[in-house]
Amino acid sequence: MTAGVRPRIGILGAGQLALMLAQAGKAMDVEVICAGQPGDCAEQVAQIIPVDLDDAAAVAGFAATVDVVTIESENIHADVLQSLNLYPNARAVGIAQDRFLEKQFFHECGIRTAPFAPVDSMEDLKHALEVIGLPAILKTRRMGYDGKGQARMRSSDDAAEAWSEVGGVPCILEGMVSFEAEVSLIAVRSRLGQVVFYPLIENHHREGILRTSIAPFVNQQLQQQAESYLGVLLERLQYVGVLAVEFFVFGGTLLANEMAPRVHNSGHWTIEGSETSQFENHLRAIVGDELGSTESRPTVMLNCIGSMPSESETSQFPGLFRHDYGKEARPGRKVGHLTFPASAHAAIAEWQKRLKA
Ligand code: AMP
Repeated sequence: MTAGVRPRIGILGAGQLALMLAQAGKAMDVEVICAGQPGDCAEQVAQIIPVDLDDAAAVAGFAATVDVVTIESENIHADVLQSLNLYPNARAVGIAQDRFLEKQFFHECGIRTAPFAPVDSMEDLKHALEVIGLPAILKTRRMGYDGKGQARMRSSDDAAEAWSEVGGVPCILEGMVSFEAEVSLIAVRSRLGQVVFYPLIENHHREGILRTSIAPFVNQQLQQQAESYLGVLLERLQYVGVLAVEFFVFGGTLLANEMAPRVHNSGHWTIEGSETSQFENHLRAIVGDELGSTESRPTVMLNCIGSMPSESETSQFPGLFRHDYGKEARPGRKVGHLTFPASAHAAIAEWQKRLKA
């Protein structure tokens, strides 16, 4: 960026990730504006320009008003992204938004995954079941998140039901992994090529939705393995910004499940738990600043799914940080999160119970 000129960052999307990016931007010398719809939750802190994110011309028009563009969701059509000054780049987003391309790319980079096969028809599904075996999980290649677009299969008799459950769209069939733990690693690569990593995070999901993240997950060998994997992904993709990869710990080693080309829910604890949050480091990376320290304190994050506890309930717990995204309550919806120092055992246990985390 030109010295002395405050960079304008445009985010495609205005949900909670854009909200937290814009909050980080407030404390920095950058301006954040969002392409979204009036009433989206980032409106609390950032200007929102109404843009239809499926309309390539409208997105290009928005992009022309800012210095750099970034995303808060990978589910934006690749055609819309092609011509933009986008960080991370359109190739990285295109790979991450298609589970088949993503898993193939992991393999090209020497990263192990659960066994998988592409499925485009019932015939393919029957064949894939013979190769992959049971139990297995059928996942749509695109637009899947928070356990949506997935069907679990215990027997080959489930095939027709699973195929109809995912809507008969292109899928992959994946072998079910009886993992020892689920972990994620968040890395950041700047426009200058500087790379930093946060500590591994242990994640607990229920019904396909992240409920709890605990940092750090202490395992020196797996930390090194994960850093080496993400190092390869970042370099091969010439990636700029935050990249998160979710892994299964299986047989004492890591199997990659998926990557997110954006700030990630399992990294929300870094707002209070790290010297520099994932949100600030993402902004630093894309404007070409030096990255901040990822030195971190043990921290726990609980997602609030469906509804947000009231302020009077949370205020009774010292050390608890409350993030309310200002979204309407709705079953299964991420409406906020709570962060605790990991030493606050009693408060964490109490809130895990209350939130069914
Ligand atoms: P995903 O949308 O792929 O991240 O899946 C959501 C959650 O479902 C994961 O975090 C796991 O808890 C579970 N899951 C997904 N794929 C598998 C798998 N192959 N084996 C076991 N559990 C899985």
